Amino acid sequence: MAQETLKGIFEGMPGFTALESQGRDIDLTIDRSLWQQGISVEVYTAHEVLIKTDSKTSMEEIIAFLVQHKRFILNRIRLYQDRRNTEDTIPLLANGDVVKLFGKPYTVERREDVRWARMSDNKILVPLGATRFGELNGDIRRLSYRELKAMTDAYADLYGFSYSSIHINERRTAWGDCDSHKRIGFNVSLAFLPEPLVEYVVVHELAHTREMNHGRNFWLEVRRVLSDYEERREELKRYNLDWYLDRIA
Ligand SMILES: [Zn+2]
Repeated sequence: MAQETLKGIFEGMPGFTALESQGRDIDLTIDRSLWQQGISVEVYTAHEVLIKTDSKTSMEEIIAFLVQHKRFILNRIRLYQDRRNTEDTIPLLANGDVVKLFGKPYTVERREDVRWARMSDNKILVPLGATRFGELNGDIRRLSYRELKAMTDAYADLYGFSYSSIHINERRTAWGDCDSHKRIGFNVSLAFLPEPLVEYVVVHELAHTREMNHGRNFWLEVRRVLSDYEERREELKRYNLDWYLDRIA
């Protein structure tokens, strides 16, 4: 229904002051909907907190709720601040750089006879002039579709899941998603993650073809396939979903 984003609201809020001084402000988005009951809080990034609630909850109640859940919110924000910066692990497109996509190394080759950046076998061919990462996105999307579909099919066959379709997206909200029609979406940024984390995202979305929510039965489905999913899930939080998307925007 209605969504509003408030800036600077954590300034001066009991317990949150130290955090604000660490640089960028933390925005609070309040999402009100008819079907929401009570209040819940989610932390999206180091600077985005989301409150979901119904249309009647007052601002005082929301602030009281935030203060009450201060510990959870602060821990989440620190986790994101501490997140591994993928910038260190993904090189730019200089001659000889190695870019790993789905664990496979591609060597960047700058060449006079190349007009625009493209992928070929184990190379990324780049023109001599300035190149934007985005020129490669079509190729990276195609590669992502191939790799993710193969992995999804393998797990689906082995563990008896079924889905209706797979698509690749550039949304900034999630590594993967699955709707009630069992259509699975995968983020193109998965190409840059280590394989165990890609596997976790694939299995997570396949589990949603049986259990739409994140309830107990959902996690049982995930655990049935990946007994160490909790470690993978924690590790995934350290990766920055926006790194690649920022470079192709
Ligand atoms: Zn999920």
